[in-house]
Amino acid sequence: MNEIKKSLIRQFAEKAKPGSINLGLGQLEFPLPEEVKAAGIKAFQEGFTKYSPNAGFLELRQAIAEDANVSRKTNYTSENIVVNAGVEQALFATLFCTINSGDKVVIPEPAYPAYAAILAMLGAKVVNLPLTETFELDLQKTEEATKGAKAIILNFPTNPTGQIMSKKHAEELTKIAEKNKCLIITDEIYFNLYYEEMSVSPATFSQNAIILDGISKRASATGLRIGWTIAPKELVPSLEAANQYMLTCATSVSQKAALAAVTKNDFEAGFRKELKKQRDAMYDEFQKWGVGKGIKPKGAFYFFPDLSELGSSLELAEKIIANGVTVIPGDAFGPSGKGHIRLSFAAPEKKIGEAMKIIREVIV
Ligand code: PMP
Repeated sequence: MNEIKKSLIRQFAEKAKPGSINLGLGQLEFPLPEEVKAAGIKAFQEGFTKYSPNAGFLELRQAIAEDANVSRKTNYTSENIVVNAGVEQALFATLFCTINSGDKVVIPEPAYPAYAAILAMLGAKVVNLPLTETFELDLQKTEEATKGAKAIILNFPTNPTGQIMSKKHAEELTKIAEKNKCLIITDEIYFNLYYEEMSVSPATFSQNAIILDGISKRASATGLRIGWTIAPKELVPSLEAANQYMLTCATSVSQKAALAAVTKNDFEAGFRKELKKQRDAMYDEFQKWGVGKGIKPKGAFYFFPDLSELGSSLELAEKIIANGVTVIPGDAFGPSGKGHIRLSFAAPEKKIGEAMKIIREVIV
């Protein structure tokens, strides 16, 4: 553990001066939806404060299975679901249960830094697979990289690029993974945050894929700490045992709030509408500058322009932060992130406008 450092995301977010505009940390600024809040309060009032099963309450697991079946066209039941303390713990438990020391694991990158950090803790060998210029998978390179690999960890819509996965890629990828006997672990925490079309899950085409999802982003509920793992039934007993010895169970009142987030989710359309406006405000402004046009994000809430013509992205991020806007250097997301800056468009439109003025002064 002495080798494991705090991620560059946290390190840079912590450099922010008081009063800075936060385009750094990845969380929505919307308040918790009323339905979700009411369900949590009711759970407290009704004394729903004891242990749940290690895998989570049955009613929540059933609702999660139904939710996934609609959005991914799958046939899951509650027996495929384990509820976790956020996707972060879902990810740790999943990798702990599937990866041995020395196993090769492919990470298409730029990627969320937790994947490589957890794999380092488990003694696995990370194989970085650079995404294309449009932040998509290169299927030929994926086929090569997954030969002899235990697993590939996908994340579409992607943190930090906002790219989604096409149906063709999802389908082709499952064929490649099956041929190479490589497990697909797909972190779909941003699945419900999309602006034109939805990403397609490889789980639509493969019974063997493991999906990770949760309420942190889709319900603006990062602090409630609820995520889940959707896995083939054979893996569920191991995931339950991992939960038992890591956390016993996810927080009971939060599970009740999560049930409302999954079943009464009309608020999601409002989130998408606001985020789309915020995305356009940021993206359209960048298009005027003649530098770092970037790829228009189709999901999640991150924009990842390439500003390498301006020099080191670490220094550039420092400079922008010193001027009062928190951003994250692309270096935090793997070797291919170098030269880029990650900007979150989760901030209100007015704040984005102010931040764009400051960034423009620094870079143009
Ligand atoms: N996966 C990705 C891609 C993320 O961006 C995040 C949070 N930033 C997580 C997982 C962890 O989310 P949670 O709050 O559910 O632990």
